[in-house]
Amino acid sequence: MTSINVIGAGLAGSEAAYQIAKRGIHVNLYEMRPVKQTPAHHTDQFAELVCSNSLRGNQLTNAVGVLKEEMRQLDSLIIKAADNARVPAGGALAVDRHDFAGYITDTLKNHSNITVKNEEITEIQEGPTIIATGPLTTESLTKQIMDITGEEQLYFYDAAAPIIDKESINMDKVYLKSRYDKGDAAYLNCPMTEEEFDTFYNALIKADVVPLKEFEKEIYFEGCMPFEVMAERGKKTLLFGPMKPVGLEDPKTGKRPYAVVQLRQDDAAGTLYNIVGFQTHLKWGAQKEVISLIPGLENVDIVRYGVMHRNTFINSPNALKETYQLNSRNDLFFAGQMTGVEGYVESAASGLIAGINASKLVSDLEPIKFPRETIIGSMAYYITHANKKNFQPMNANFGLLPSLEKRIKDKKVRYETLANRALKHLNSFKVML
Ligand code: FAD
Repeated sequence: MTSINVIGAGLAGSEAAYQIAKRGIHVNLYEMRPVKQTPAHHTDQFAELVCSNSLRGNQLTNAVGVLKEEMRQLDSLIIKAADNARVPAGGALAVDRHDFAGYITDTLKNHSNITVKNEEITEIQEGPTIIATGPLTTESLTKQIMDITGEEQLYFYDAAAPIIDKESINMDKVYLKSRYDKGDAAYLNCPMTEEEFDTFYNALIKADVVPLKEFEKEIYFEGCMPFEVMAERGKKTLLFGPMKPVGLEDPKTGKRPYAVVQLRQDDAAGTLYNIVGFQTHLKWGAQKEVISLIPGLENVDIVRYGVMHRNTFINSPNALKETYQLNSRNDLFFAGQMTGVEGYVESAASGLIAGINASKLVSDLEPIKFPRETIIGSMAYYITHANKKNFQPMNANFGLLPSLEKRIKDKKVRYETLANRALKHLNSFKVML
């Protein structure tokens, strides 16, 4: 039987390789470290966690917790390793990073169906291949991917604003309007008085920022300045930038607020909104604190925090199928952060689907779409159906799931219901794998 090439033994590539190998198919697993390092990795271990040692929430009232449970049920190597290397972290699944990566490295290196090759891939091979080279993919391979997906479809810097759950917006305080009433009223506007702006501004300039790594500094020249950096340039800068109130008079009073924060719909279902112009490098706790000071967002539920780091990802809504196959080449799969899923667990989850589907392909079976009601399936759906013009990476969140037939107001009960529905769907789907 044909071998499958997996490029990159990070979170996604390691999971993909395992899923293929356990199905009795041979894998050539290419990993360039330690021959060549990325600017963020420090070891030669597979699935190295480049930053935090947390795989985030582990409970079923948390979307990433549900995703982990789905992966557990699908025999994920990454989750098995995490459960094995767990350290105390309250409701989160945090790990001893060395034990975690060691478990994965040993499992893959000792697998009789896996041949590990420590080399940098500079050209995309012929034959069934999964590219899982992550946000820090090397330059020559990046160029190749640009050629195969179209030059416009690869991005280098991820400067994303936080995305919030619509359910958490206080609709009594915001109003729907576009600037100067141009086009459809597409934005939710959070109006601020001068006093409210001052409180917000004073909290913002004191808020904690994640220090930038050397290789990330050029972001500033790319024209996507974090809103906290704008604020540092003077109190008025934001009022002439993302918080500009002109043309946004409050329909209830007819008056122009002192400042306005605009929220733009982020998904087709209208369950998620992004905070316009609020790309940020603030620490997550600080983001929550500062954003909660915006009228209407006092109880904000941030489903994806603003991030700013180098990122290489394809325009999946244009380039990929829900099966993680490239539209223009059936035997070429992408997985991991490269596809626009964001985070360790999400990356591994996409590797799991790509690995299963690549195995199906070489076994002359149809690759398969995972159910939309599951978090793993809803992520695949999101990255292939999001807005092509403004595609940004996404974390797992409940807003990606189809709505429940009957709306449940209590958030905890709603999330539990969605979690139970996801696991039920996965259970009946598993028999097809
Ligand atoms: P990776 O895990 O990066 O794996 C890609 C692998 O491909 C690497 O091992 C690399 O060496 C290899 N490779 C690259 N190019 C080639 C090539 N040409 N040939 C052969 N091998 C190659 N996510 C979180 O959930 N929490 C965090 O705290 C977090 N912090 C981050 C901090 C930084 C600085 C960055 C850049 C990202 C961070 N992320 C974080 C996102 C994180 O990268 C992803 O969540 C996850 O590691 C992506 O998994 P992946 O498998 O797609 O890529």
